Amino acid sequence: MNAVIVSIGSELTSGLLVDTNSAFLSRELEVAGIEVAAHFTVGDEQPRIVAALRRACEQADVVIASGGLGPTPDDRTRAALAEAMGAELIEDERSFAEIEAFFRKRNYPMSRLNRVQAMRPAPAEAIPNANGTAPGIAAELGEAKVFTLPGVPGEMRAMFREHVLPRLGQAGRVILHRRVCCFGCGESSLAERIEDLMAARGDVRVGTTASSGLIAVHVSCAADSIESARRQADDILHEIRARLGEWIVAEGEDASLEAAVGELLRSGGQTLATAESCTGGMLGEMITAVPGSSEYYLGGVVSYTNAAKRDLLDVDAATLESRGAVSEAVARQMADGVRKRFAGDWGIGITGIAGPSGGTESKPVGLVFVALSDREGTHVERQIFPGDRQAVRRRAALTALNMLRKAMENL
Ligand code: ATP
Ligand code: MG
Repeated sequence: MNAVIVSIGSELTSGLLVDTNSAFLSRELEVAGIEVAAHFTVGDEQPRIVAALRRACEQADVVIASGGLGPTPDDRTRAALAEAMGAELIEDERSFAEIEAFFRKRNYPMSRLNRVQAMRPAPAEAIPNANGTAPGIAAELGEAKVFTLPGVPGEMRAMFREHVLPRLGQAGRVILHRRVCCFGCGESSLAERIEDLMAARGDVRVGTTASSGLIAVHVSCAADSIESARRQADDILHEIRARLGEWIVAEGEDASLEAAVGELLRSGGQTLATAESCTGGMLGEMITAVPGSSEYYLGGVVSYTNAAKRDLLDVDAATLESRGAVSEAVARQMADGVRKRFAGDWGIGITGIAGPSGGTESKPVGLVFVALSDREGTHVERQIFPGDRQAVRRRAALTALNMLRKAMENL
């Protein structure tokens, strides 16, 4: 069984919006053993949607479309599907009642336009939307099954998992994806250790992608059943852990270093404060993007100027003068100072030259000092990071998190 995904919306074709719906649908379909043959993207014009739906249905057994089911005149998916099917649009009574109830519950007047959302091609079926007003539609076009879903990602995902996947069943080979996040090594030295796994071309595939020093190892396992794919995935992950263990910082599709560090702090009942210069709050932003971070993150100081380092973090004026703001000694005092000011278990200090200007022979662009302080002492790493301003800043923040992770895991 194979599928074509159709994304509908002029925001997509004009590049104002990145199509994340297709990526989600592709992954879900592959896990269900349905091969995705193509992605089509079309604007909001009805004739184009009709053509895309027809072409998709000629090529695939299953067509999943998203977008254009809203109440406004530029939402043309409903009418386009009816036209492609050569069917009439009729009002679905149950959908109408549900849309009415949706507005009543929120004490909001229902617009005349919302009534359009209850329409469906006569021979089709409405799919209820638990999270919004636009019902989806399940229909048949030629030999293919077609599902049109709302564009809003949360509504689309819930509707796909609850109402579409169960109707597809397991159709063929299942493909399971796993992801392992590594940090603290180069992509090529990592690849050297798993070269044989990456070269293998069988049911189990291993590949890597890298961004700002974070290396993701992607594993995909194809099998006849989900159980067998899981067994293969467990085996290969066991092998990958044995070879890359020291560099692995997190595992899982949504795993991140900041969440892994957060979990270590939370479970150990420990707290953290940060003092940032060249990262300007980026580290604090990463830490607080993790839900529940208030349990362990006390706060931070963005100490960009010398005066801020001195007044807010007790960095010694003489040290600033003699060593300069970008120095091991200042990073150390920033980490110590912020830990003491916030009365935390851990303090992090970051100071560096993110570029593109400001570098000198002895202090080049990319030079960053990252310090980690606890009651027992302070450890400082000196690094020269490659990349542009943003990459240097991101690597600095990640390095700080990784130092903390290693310290907490006694590595
Ligand atoms: P609505 O009732 O909100 O109008 P709709 O079914 O008409 O729903 P669209 O108008 O196409 O959906 O999209 C609504 C919003 O959902 C878009 O503005 C966009 O933010 C998001 N969206 C739509 N399609 C995609 C997509 N393919 N990938 C990511 N986001 C999307
Ligand atoms: Mg819309």
